[in-house]
Amino acid sequence: MKNNITSKRRDVLKAMAGFAASLVVPKVARGEKSTAKPFDWADDSIHYDPHDHNWGMGVDIDKCIGCGRCSNACKIENDVPKEPFFFRTWVERYQVKENGETIIDCPNGAIDGFEKHPEGDDVLRSFFVPKLCNHCENPPCVQVCPVGATYQSADGVVLVDADYCLGCRYCIQACPYGARFLHPVTRTAEKCTFCYHRIVRGEEPACVEACPTEARVFGELDQKASPLHRFKRMNHIGVLKPALNTEPKVFYANLDMEVK
Ligand code: SF4
Ligand code: SF4
Repeated sequence: MKNNITSKRRDVLKAMAGFAASLVVPKVARGEKSTAKPFDWADDSIHYDPHDHNWGMGVDIDKCIGCGRCSNACKIENDVPKEPFFFRTWVERYQVKENGETIIDCPNGAIDGFEKHPEGDDVLRSFFVPKLCNHCENPPCVQVCPVGATYQSADGVVLVDADYCLGCRYCIQACPYGARFLHPVTRTAEKCTFCYHRIVRGEEPACVEACPTEARVFGELDQKASPLHRFKRMNHIGVLKPALNTEPKVFYANLDMEVK
């Protein structure tokens, strides 16, 4: 029944999308974060106030071995569709050749890891780059959503309210990191949530828990004693596509070249 109502509401909203797009002033454009509770938790045992947190993630390139356990754990934890190329997190391999050429591959999101290097002797070095939604401080995906279904929670996590999502794909096109996809069944936008259902319970995202080398670090950005704060202090930090001014909150250590 709820699905029926939701689908009717979606149809109406879809019909109004063009009109709404010209009227809705995105919260981020007004410099605000949503104060709404991200989910209607039925579980009374969860006492979580988004205003008490500011979440981010660190990724140490030198520690990642490309095993893909993170992508696999994410698929299982979040019931990400099994079809190829739908991932909330994935791992890319970069191979830099002597002639300056860079080869990038990512077989099936790396959920089964990588085959041994297929390249020849002219590869100077290779490394792995785990990717996911950057939970940008200035998220283009939020700015283009005509109905506010994609929003930034008070704790800095960028979320999608599937009940309001029209499936118009504006956010998918606007994300410069390719972090979003349209769910083939629900026809709504999907992406990493930092495993929101876990962090409200005080647990780490599944990818962080699954990583055998501790290449991924999750934590509070504003607390000086947090592992993430320490990670940022102790390493040379970079973000993906810094020129876009999206201000990603996924921070990479030892990213010594421009990664696409
Ligand atoms: Fe939005 Fe993409 Fe930034 Fe994630 S990485 S917040 S989906 S623009
Ligand atoms: Fe890299 Fe850790 Fe993911 Fe393995 S689980 S691919 S080491 S980030």
